[in-house]
Amino acid sequence: MKQFQYVRPAEAEAAVNALLKDPGARFVAGGTNLLDLMKRGVEAPDRLVDINRLPLKEIRKEKQEFYIGALALNSTVAEHRDIREGLPLLSQALLAGASAQLRNMATVGGNLLQRTRCPYFYDTAMPCNKRVPGSGCGALKGFNRMHAIFGASEHCIAVNPSDMNVALAALDATVHLSGPKGRRSIPVQDFHRLPGDHPEQDTTIGKNELITGVSIPRSPLKHVHYLKVRDRNSYAFALVSVAAALDLDGKLIRGARLAMGGVAHKPWRLTEAENFLIGKEISASSFQEASNLAMRGARAYEHNEFKLRLAPRSIVHALSIASGLVKA
Ligand code: SF4
Repeated sequence: MKQFQYVRPAEAEAAVNALLKDPGARFVAGGTNLLDLMKRGVEAPDRLVDINRLPLKEIRKEKQEFYIGALALNSTVAEHRDIREGLPLLSQALLAGASAQLRNMATVGGNLLQRTRCPYFYDTAMPCNKRVPGSGCGALKGFNRMHAIFGASEHCIAVNPSDMNVALAALDATVHLSGPKGRRSIPVQDFHRLPGDHPEQDTTIGKNELITGVSIPRSPLKHVHYLKVRDRNSYAFALVSVAAALDLDGKLIRGARLAMGGVAHKPWRLTEAENFLIGKEISASSFQEASNLAMRGARAYEHNEFKLRLAPRSIVHALSIASGLVKA
């Protein structure tokens, strides 16, 4: 591994300045993704700016929203009483991710920024437009079983690997940033991006910006379920996941939120299906119709055609559990 410098500032401004001074510097918090990338030669920073001393671990319940600091650990957030009671979908999604050991190290900010698990991205002997722009995409004609069925481009068909991000998309979260030009906030749906012509850019974060926290509005959608379909029951990335949240009046659906993971370069929000469900009664046929709408525009590659059947079934199953139509 290439040698690097290590600094540990105590204030956000000092951390941003450390990055500004050195274009080869990178922030590190839990290190659960970055250190893997460094060991594999995908990332080679000159300097690591350890942000663990910054005061960004707070979890607050406010009148209109929940606020979670960027350095709150995934395990702490998932087990926090206010989050379990007020945002159970987020708690479920976090507990579905990684392993207990990784959740004890991984932070909310790092989870937002975690990079794809496409094997060609991690293999420096293979072409990958995300790692080396213009080098080609090894997955397009390679083994693309884990790859996207929505929103891909001819340059990249990778998926976002996070479970937390899928729940945050369904819950209309906002990401808060601090940088050389001051503070700004971005809806999480605009934070992650599709690959287009620039798959090397996963998000819309600025070069020297720091994630300071995430806010999530309090919501009447109390009937929730996070469904993760994967090859084994723990420590595996989603083939397909569904975050489903419903506001019910008896059997009547007053509100619906749906997002999918494992299917696109960003958490994939299913707004057409959500709008269809509002005003319907909970039933297998309504959920089936919603899943048909959600699958419009899906496109498979050689090895992931099974996702075209798995995804709609997962949507129906997640909605059925969230609504109480079937037991988990
Ligand atoms: Fe790289 Fe994206 Fe192609 Fe994977 S899918 S090899 S990450 S360009």
